[in-house]
Amino acid sequence: MLVSVPQILNKALNQEDISPQEGLTLLQQTHPEVISKIRETADILRQEQVGETVTYIINRNINFTNICEQHCNFCAFRRDENQEGSYWLDWQQIQEKTADAVRHNATEICMQGGLNPEAKVNGKSLDYYLKLIDTIKDAFPDIHLHAFSPQEIQFIARQDKISYAEVIVALKQAGLGSMPGTAAEVLDDKIRQVICPEKINAATWLEIVETAHRLGVNTTSTLLSGHIETPQQQIEHLEKLRKLQQKAVQNNYPAHITEFIILPFVGQEAPPSLRRRVGRDQPILADALLLTAVARIYLGNWIKNHQPSWVKLGLEGAKKALQWGCNDIGGTLMEEHITTMAGAQGGTCMTPEQLQKAIASLNRPYQERTTLYQKVLMRSGVTL
Ligand code: SF4
Repeated sequence: MLVSVPQILNKALNQEDISPQEGLTLLQQTHPEVISKIRETADILRQEQVGETVTYIINRNINFTNICEQHCNFCAFRRDENQEGSYWLDWQQIQEKTADAVRHNATEICMQGGLNPEAKVNGKSLDYYLKLIDTIKDAFPDIHLHAFSPQEIQFIARQDKISYAEVIVALKQAGLGSMPGTAAEVLDDKIRQVICPEKINAATWLEIVETAHRLGVNTTSTLLSGHIETPQQQIEHLEKLRKLQQKAVQNNYPAHITEFIILPFVGQEAPPSLRRRVGRDQPILADALLLTAVARIYLGNWIKNHQPSWVKLGLEGAKKALQWGCNDIGGTLMEEHITTMAGAQGGTCMTPEQLQKAIASLNRPYQERTTLYQKVLMRSGVTL
């Protein structure tokens, strides 16, 4: 039976989960008045689920290398080892960047890199990644390290012929705080064959994230939207994330998904085949906003924190997303390479004041948070 949009929105407002078919119906709407009702519903749910306050984090990105064995078709960041523009930070550079972040009151280092088969210590990939953690945590034990995508976990396990669980346990023991849920792209193997054919498949991404939750490592979750995926595939992606979170809750895992982030595709400098197929360079804001609202309606009972990407949408676009179901504006980042090299125009760095001002312009209160959404109460780093 086909259900009408008002019925779907009422169901969501009654705190019931909507079905994949109902989510798809919402994504297929084109009439401005209907889309406006979807936005209003997402905004009401956001208020009920997390309140008025918009959070942000003082963090720094460190992308330790862009040398990568893979060739994702949306990636303008990767380089071969001796290619012009390739780089690989040494231990001192990583420590200096962390020290600079700490001087700027960062509570989090977000660290990811290309998959570099040469990155080994004692002939082992895992030992290289452990040394990355030690380099940061030995000097700055209080900083939260949010690092290594499920793709990086699989890379380490494959290089060293060990299990995902062994990798995650070792990284956690060394001081890993949480993992970014990147490399999810769209959790559909037909799409992955086109946009990232060498990456882990959808089932492996889900397996690694579930393993992290089981072992007590929180993750985020993402969706790379606005390229060749269909609304049906977007909803199936959200359904997989919702099921993953439900599994964590139902099995009483010690960790879970802390937030959901939509990453709209930026094609300007992307490899030409995908760029030509998508047919545009910058995201379509209206599409990203409708998806943002539907994601809040679809996931909000299970994943409360929703964040737009100011790097991809610009700060004005991210501010709009705060009225379409988002409650967090993300981090200061301090430096951003991956999306900026793809041609994003949102910038590479925000000061806390810029983020605060953006939030205040919507007449919403702001609050600095930690990676795991605790309040930072004082600049001494006291959290609640
Ligand atoms: S997206 Fe990541 S894995 Fe894919 S080519 Fe770029 S750096 Fe490598």
